[in-house]
Amino acid sequence: MLRLTDTQTKTVREVTASTPGLLTVYACGPTVYRYAHVGNLRTFLLTDLIRRTAERRGLRVKLVQNITDVGHLQDDTAIDSTGEDKLLAQARLEDKSPFAIARFYEDAFHRDLAALNVRPADAYPRASEWIPSMITLIERLVASGNAYVGDDGTVYFAAQSYDAYGQLSGNRLEDLRAGHGATGESAATGKRFHADWALWKLAGAHREMTWDSPWGAGFPGWHVECSAMSLDLLGDTIDLHTGGIDLRFPHHEDERAQSNCAVGHEVVGHWVHGEHLLFEGRKMAKSTGNVVLVEDVTARGHDPLALRLAFLSSRYRQQANLSWESIAAADALITRWRTAVAAWAESPSEAIAPAYRDEVLAAFEDDLDTPKALQVLRRLEKDDEVAPGAKFETFAWADTLLGLDLARTVGQPVVAAALPGGAQSLLDERAAARTGKDFAASDRLRDELAALGVSVKDTKAGQEWSLA
Ligand code: AMP
Ligand code: ZN
Repeated sequence: MLRLTDTQTKTVREVTASTPGLLTVYACGPTVYRYAHVGNLRTFLLTDLIRRTAERRGLRVKLVQNITDVGHLQDDTAIDSTGEDKLLAQARLEDKSPFAIARFYEDAFHRDLAALNVRPADAYPRASEWIPSMITLIERLVASGNAYVGDDGTVYFAAQSYDAYGQLSGNRLEDLRAGHGATGESAATGKRFHADWALWKLAGAHREMTWDSPWGAGFPGWHVECSAMSLDLLGDTIDLHTGGIDLRFPHHEDERAQSNCAVGHEVVGHWVHGEHLLFEGRKMAKSTGNVVLVEDVTARGHDPLALRLAFLSSRYRQQANLSWESIAAADALITRWRTAVAAWAESPSEAIAPAYRDEVLAAFEDDLDTPKALQVLRRLEKDDEVAPGAKFETFAWADTLLGLDLARTVGQPVVAAALPGGAQSLLDERAAARTGKDFAASDRLRDELAALGVSVKDTKAGQEWSLA
């Protein structure tokens, strides 16, 4: 069964479905004020890999991913996010309504996911369409004594009201003041305690994206969105919660406190965080100025799935360093594998190679050891003991996890076209020479093919070619 690193216990634990046969997963989604960069996509891919792996053991996966289109303020690393709403700031910049901005980038997000073969979630709730439920949740937290209306009219969560606060990120309330830039904030904002955070903010000068509430017109805090949407759509026991490592604190720490206090028990069974993507050595971020988009990759002539393969080359819990060279190398490997898979598909059918299949699945189930799974497949590719038909079956099976469309060119004339001109007739001649045991001719034809960039190998099942 699938084992994943759990952020809260810092151990690799088996993922368990609290309802037999059904795994519930909540994935923190994008804030739709700009195109997702490929770093964001690496994080979204993590959930897809988890889902595909769980499905191999017959689990049905119910996946919800939120769309944040309100409430995410510019400085989200502070204890309580501050600054302007990211959507409103972008709307001002593009001179459009915030909703137009949100829908535009939400559509782009779905296109990016499709380009990377990330299968769609069961639901994509939008924060702006979930306000009544957030208000109900906040009311519940006020009634239970976990939240209060501050002197400034903002509704705050009282961090000290939740004893287990900090367990997810390892932050202790008493240490937060110094480390997270909140010095003096309690006095300035109307909070009772420096680590409290806003659940509902008053509209103030805001005119757009505000809603009526028992505390006056305003808008929700970012963290409360995820509590309300996950509890509503997945219930009060959620097997798995995913996101990028930067969301561990404060976003997920605060979400955990809200959800657990609202229902009176631990909601999320397993927290899984993906490490950051670096580009040419530095964390990919708009602020770093090294953002790469899917369309930058395709504009250079690469298959977007080369990105997916490049991501699979490192394990999700480790930082990955992407470069144009690594994307190009991944693109070349995908082409090589597709060509090989199409060629193997022409051979007589054979049963899957069970040892290789089991090794690939074991690697995925071992905390998504995708680099290992790729190594196993490279080994299979070269294994002369395995018949081409069995290689085809095994690669096609593995691709249900990899998601690289490796059978894309099977049965298409593209296969022949992938061979340089004249190579097919040389291959046919060589096959005939070998049948006639004319090894001198066979060697000469091998050299001629090599000169065309086609390398030929003889296996028990006949000759196999690949592009050098
Ligand atoms: P955002 O749209 O900014 O809310 O981010 C969407 C997701 O991408 C979150 O889960 C972030 O943690 C994640 N993320 C942001 N930057 C990176 C990065 N450089 N590498 C991997 N994930 C990232
Ligand atoms: Zn979230």
